[in-house]
Amino acid sequence: MTTTEARGGLDKALLSSLAKAVRGRVAAYVVVIVAAFVGGGMAVALVGGAVVTVAVAVVLGFVMSGFINAAHDCVHSSHLRSKRANRIMGAAWCTPLLLNFTNYRYDHLVHHRFTGVPGDTERPKQFHTLRSYLYSLSAIAYWRYNARTIARTWRNEFPASVNKDDRRRDSRADNVAICAWLVLAVVLTWFAPHVLLAVYWLPLLISAVVMRITGLPEHYGLWGVPEIERNTRTVRSNALFRLVLWNGNYHAEHHRYPAVATLNLHRLHKAMPEPHPIQSDSYLGFHIGLVKSLNVTRRAPAEPDQS
Ligand SMILES: [Zn+2]
Repeated sequence: MTTTEARGGLDKALLSSLAKAVRGRVAAYVVVIVAAFVGGGMAVALVGGAVVTVAVAVVLGFVMSGFINAAHDCVHSSHLRSKRANRIMGAAWCTPLLLNFTNYRYDHLVHHRFTGVPGDTERPKQFHTLRSYLYSLSAIAYWRYNARTIARTWRNEFPASVNKDDRRRDSRADNVAICAWLVLAVVLTWFAPHVLLAVYWLPLLISAVVMRITGLPEHYGLWGVPEIERNTRTVRSNALFRLVLWNGNYHAEHHRYPAVATLNLHRLHKAMPEPHPIQSDSYLGFHIGLVKSLNVTRRAPAEPDQS
């Protein structure tokens, strides 16, 4: 390794430029997202009808599913420049998803330390039946987890990673924000039920399913080995989906270089001296492979995809 090369053979100067927050593009994303929600609400209020309502809800559901990737960028302090800005924006992205940013943040950092081995805060995923796979996609477990987290935080119960006073204070503040947001959403629903259904409640449910679809490939079937080359998967996907996901599809590149801003992951993917060995072409291809493998995994664990 030369002095200009970082770990993995990447140019150090390139890596440090990719690790810089891209505030202008983040601001552009925020403007487009706000415009999408306002425009969707106006379309439902002015035009109405079941087709418009469902179309708006589906589009906003996909947009909302990207919030978790923006929040994830804040977890790694690469969304905006200051620690405080990342903390505030992380909570801002997570609150509409009813997800406690502080708990997510510290659990996720433990996940990076123990990916795929005992101590990992993400449980191993390997389905043996179509029923268990569909149950996972339904995101019922996600809603149960969020509801339990709200109740536990009120009782001052926290995950093991939220183990310091400042972390517990932040977790409580995030919980208050989620509850206040819920109250606001319910009040607004009272006055404009049709619009709120189309721009919030349905997108919320859809976004959780999309998050399961896009989150599952990250480490599915790869439990038990500590090397990133063997325990993490990248999905190349298409330009539209990469846009919606803030490039969060490049999960292996992210695990190799967690400081790189999420919006720079496509550039990092293209700059990798050697392509990551575990990749899927698309989410659809990954999930078709997974479903096909279900009968096989009943007898012996197998990889559902590979390229
Ligand atoms: Zn991460």
